[in-house]
Amino acid sequence: MKDAPGTSGLILEEPLLWEKGKKGRCGMSIPESDVPPAALADELVGAEPDFPDLSEIDVVRHYTRLSTWNFGVDTGMYPLGSCTMKYNPKVNEKQAAAPAMATVHPLLPLEHCQGTLKLMYLLQKHLAAITGMDAVSLQPAAGAHGELAGMLIFSAYHTSRGRTKTKILIPDTAHGTNPASAALCGYKPVKVASGRRGILEAQEIRALMDEETAGIMITNPNTLGLFEENIREIADIIHENDGLVYCDGANMNAIMGVVDLKKCGVDVLHLNLHKTFSTPHGGGGPGAGPVCVVESLEKFLPVPRIDFDGSSYVLREEVEGSIGRIHGFFGNFGVLVRAYSYILSMGAANLKKASQYAVLNACYIKERLKGHLHLAYNRPCMHEAVFSDKHQQNQKVTTLDIAKRLMDCGYHPPTIYFPLVVPGAIMIEPTESECLEDLDRFVEVVKAIVAEAGNDPEKLRSSPTRFKIRRLDETRAARNPCLRG
Ligand SMILES: *Cc1c(COP(=O)(O)O)cnc(C)c1O
Repeated sequence: MKDAPGTSGLILEEPLLWEKGKKGRCGMSIPESDVPPAALADELVGAEPDFPDLSEIDVVRHYTRLSTWNFGVDTGMYPLGSCTMKYNPKVNEKQAAAPAMATVHPLLPLEHCQGTLKLMYLLQKHLAAITGMDAVSLQPAAGAHGELAGMLIFSAYHTSRGRTKTKILIPDTAHGTNPASAALCGYKPVKVASGRRGILEAQEIRALMDEETAGIMITNPNTLGLFEENIREIADIIHENDGLVYCDGANMNAIMGVVDLKKCGVDVLHLNLHKTFSTPHGGGGPGAGPVCVVESLEKFLPVPRIDFDGSSYVLREEVEGSIGRIHGFFGNFGVLVRAYSYILSMGAANLKKASQYAVLNACYIKERLKGHLHLAYNRPCMHEAVFSDKHQQNQKVTTLDIAKRLMDCGYHPPTIYFPLVVPGAIMIEPTESECLEDLDRFVEVVKAIVAEAGNDPEKLRSSPTRFKIRRLDETRAARNPCLRG
C-alpha cells in the first residue's frame, strides 16, 4: 500500500479496498442478535466471499477519490468526435430515477405497467416523427446492436422474396461496427471508396452494385462530418438493383428535425439514444439503439412489438416475418425514459435548434482552427470537423502528442486516428452544449499547442505531465490490462 495520500496537491492516490481494509472494521452497527446463531450449511463453509472489512468512511472516501480520476462532460469540454459527448440536462436523469420508472419490474403483468408501455409506445412514435421513418423498435441495446437488427431485417426481407444475397456495400469512412454487423449476418462487406470531396459518388455505387449485393450501409452525416449529398441518387441506384439502404444514424445529433431520412431513400436506420437523446455514455454502457424502418419492412422488426389496441397497451410476441427476439426484456429502460423526457422537454422546435447549434459550433471550430491545423476537407461541415497533424510533421509532433497535451490543458482529447481515410486524423465534435466563450477558449488552447509544436516540441512529446499516470504503452495496456489503479 502506498503511504502518501496524494501524489501532488489534490491528485489523489488510492489503494485497493482489499489493501485498505482491516479485520474487524465495520460499515454499520446492528443490534445484538436475540436468536441463537445457526451454523452454515456444510457446502457453504469456506465459500464466503473474500470481502475486506471497512468502515463507512473508508468506502465513501474510496469511491469519491476514484471519481476524481474521471473526466466527464460535467467536468469540462469533451470534444470526442463521432461520440457526441454532449451535456445532458439533469431533469432527464431525475425522470429516469423516479421510483415508478427506476423500480418497475420487467415481469409485471401488463395491466400493472400500462404507463411504462405507453412511454415506450409514444417514444417510438416520436422517434418516427423525428427521423421521418414509419415504424420503430426500441429493442436493440446499442448502436451496433441496432445495426445487427438492421442486417437481420435485410436478410429476412431478401429471403422473403426468395433471394439470397451475399455482399453489402460499406464506405471506407464507416464506423468499424458496420462491416462487423454485416459480417455477423453472413454478408461480405465490400469497401466503397469515398470521392475527392469526402462523400460517396453515385458512379462508384453504380459500378459496384449487382444482383448479389443486399444493399448499402451509409452513415449520414458520415464520419468525416460531411453530409452525403448524393444519398437520394445512391438510394435510387440501390433500389433499382433490388437492394436496400441502411443508414447508420449515430450522428443524428447533426440533423434532428432537419433531414427526413425516408425522403432520402433510407429503408432501415438506427439511432444512438446514448449519443443524441440525453444518456451520458462512455466506458461501455448503458445504451439503446432503436431501429427505424419504412412501412414495408415493419413486419420484420424484432419482437416483442408494443401496440395500442384502442383501450390498452399490449405486447405482441408472435409476429409473422419478425426477425424474433434480440435480447431478454426491454433493454436499458432508463435510457428510454431519458430520451422520452428529453424529447418532450425540448419540443420539436428546440430539437431542431440543438442540431443547428451543434453544426454551427463545429463550423466555427473548423473556420477558426483551419489555418493552424491541417483541415482534411475544406468544405462546410456538419457536427464535427476533421483535422490532421500534417502541418506538424516537420516538427515530428504527432496527433497523439497534441491529444496528450490537450489533457494537460484541461480538455478531454478529441477522437484521434479515425476515420481511417485521414492519416493522423483529429476529429473534433464540440456539440451544441458549448457556449461561444468556451469554444473560443478551446480554440486559443489548440492554437497555443500548435505554436508550442514549433517552439518546444519536446513539451508535447513528453505530455501529459499533470496526471497521476502519464503515457501508457497503449498496446500493452490493451493486451495486458493492469486493473490495480
Ligand atoms: C457510436 C457509433 C456506432 C456504434 O454505437 P454503439 O452504441 O457504440 O454500438 C456506430 N456508428 C457510428 C457512426 C457511431 O458513431
